[in-house]
Amino acid sequence: MSEGMLKDKFARTIRDLRISVTDRCNFRCFYCIPDEDIVWKRKQELLTYEEIILVAKIGAGLGVHKLRLTGGEPLVRRDIEYLIEELAKIPGVSDLALTTNSFELKDRAIALRSAGLTRLTISCDSLNADTFKTITRRDGLQEVLDGIEAAVKAGFPAPKVNCVVIRGLNDGEVADFADFSRATGVRMRFIEYMPLDNGHQWDRSLLVGGREILQKIKERHEITPISRDTPSETALRYVFADGAPGEIGIIAPVTMPFCGACSRLRLTADGNLRTCLFSMVDHNIKDRIRRGDDEELIRQFMIETVLKKEEGHRINESDFVQPPRTMSFIGG
Ligand code: SF4
Repeated sequence: MSEGMLKDKFARTIRDLRISVTDRCNFRCFYCIPDEDIVWKRKQELLTYEEIILVAKIGAGLGVHKLRLTGGEPLVRRDIEYLIEELAKIPGVSDLALTTNSFELKDRAIALRSAGLTRLTISCDSLNADTFKTITRRDGLQEVLDGIEAAVKAGFPAPKVNCVVIRGLNDGEVADFADFSRATGVRMRFIEYMPLDNGHQWDRSLLVGGREILQKIKERHEITPISRDTPSETALRYVFADGAPGEIGIIAPVTMPFCGACSRLRLTADGNLRTCLFSMVDHNIKDRIRRGDDEELIRQFMIETVLKKEEGHRINESDFVQPPRTMSFIGG
């Protein structure tokens, strides 16, 4: 096993591969997927599970030990438990996580756990049923909350709950989410609203910066900073000073970028490597696999691709251009 073979030209080591297994979703979050006229990828355009396993195996051989399954919504792709079982068997893979909207989690948590999944992250932007529906365009808050409960019962370590904070929509709920974390033990991750929306309507005035989110929490709870698990972890972390369960994390890619320690590479559902969430370039690995390139050629392609990794996003630069690919076709 050759630890740390995947280095970019800024001497960052790639250890995390985020794998989008589908572009499809059962929600229609307005900042991610349009509500109608969606042109989904056809089945043959998507990587098969065997192709995903191949890329993950080659990546593990290059020191990529953390895998995260994303979408769209990964639980809508059939037999994902099979993929999890196979990925969990890959030597060198020590962390296998999944990000879900939890709508189907209540009945799937135990099977996901026994398939070998080690961690769960749940996306939930509101604890208010009406606001939830406004954001997701689906009635599903109760199912999402039931899914969180089922995840804890299934033995997953305290799930992370991702909440994208948008001014004038759910920013009034930040302290309520902190209460929710105390009551359930989940680890909140408040995420700044990023320009990756399908309508390219992102507006900085809707952004609630990390410091402002923190202030909203401090108005209700005393919190204490704790250190990151790893230098590349994206969240600034806090615990409640009174020792209550739960945790607060602030992910502020716009106002407090963390690109300098980025260790992430992404694989899209349609078989492209992406060196950055905001990259303007896709690196097609699917066609190389399907034309019969052997593992050594694929390995070389991954190494060369990572050498093209951008230094960071340019959201705060005057020349910033939003990538054509939107979140549901990247996978977060
Ligand atoms: S914006 Fe790009 S470089 Fe920065 S942390 Fe995200 S993926 Fe890494």
